[in-house]
Amino acid sequence: MASADPLTVPRQVIDEQWSALRSAGWRLLGLTQALQAHAADPGAKVLGVTFDDGRDDFALVPDLLVRHDARATLYVPTAHVGGPGGPVHYAGRVMSWEELAELPQDRVEIGSHSHRHMPTDVLTDRELAVEVATSREALQDRLGRPVWSFCYPNGYAAPRQARIVASAGFRNACVVGRRLSGWADDLFLLPRLQVLPEHGGRQIIALVERGERGWVPRIKEFAHPPWRMVRQGVYRTSGRVLT
Ligand SMILES: [Zn+2]
Repeated sequence: MASADPLTVPRQVIDEQWSALRSAGWRLLGLTQALQAHAADPGAKVLGVTFDDGRDDFALVPDLLVRHDARATLYVPTAHVGGPGGPVHYAGRVMSWEELAELPQDRVEIGSHSHRHMPTDVLTDRELAVEVATSREALQDRLGRPVWSFCYPNGYAAPRQARIVASAGFRNACVVGRRLSGWADDLFLLPRLQVLPEHGGRQIIALVERGERGWVPRIKEFAHPPWRMVRQGVYRTSGRVLT
């Protein structure tokens, strides 16, 4: 754990944000499940909630998931499991295999965040294919669960990377994107909205209903922020693309 105690406030913030979203009628699901729910009922008020990097402070999230009858997807860079969080710019550690195995399967979808967390644009196609396949196999072998969702390290990707992820057996993949998803979006390049600690109840509802306009300028600097809560992302579908 970091020396400061940023967990207390961010955890309260999550609690408040999720309370506000639930009160406004939103259902919180992992990304794969949210996509399924959306396919079954395009008008459903469902959000896909995602957390990147598999950090050990995620251990504080499952009880919040229960409290809000929610689910979420946790993306794990498999080469870093159980190790220091340095490669993902975190003072704590990445969860161990044992800790990951203990996460409640009915609440937490485990997704791949590649193997080494290398920016995908610096890898050749072959290197990326190895990163993607190695991570998926490790998660499925060690945790005994199917792994359908992928998250690109550093939050961006292009169609070249998306094709490689799709051919590795995943069903969806997300970038940061910072906008609402539209009907035409590639399932392997799904945009997410980035949730910030300063999003109170009113702001989080505006965020998922209208997108990140007004919140964009500081996002880039928070690509790997000191605040853990910033790692939370929200995916939601809409009939239109706002940016
Ligand atoms: Zn990451």
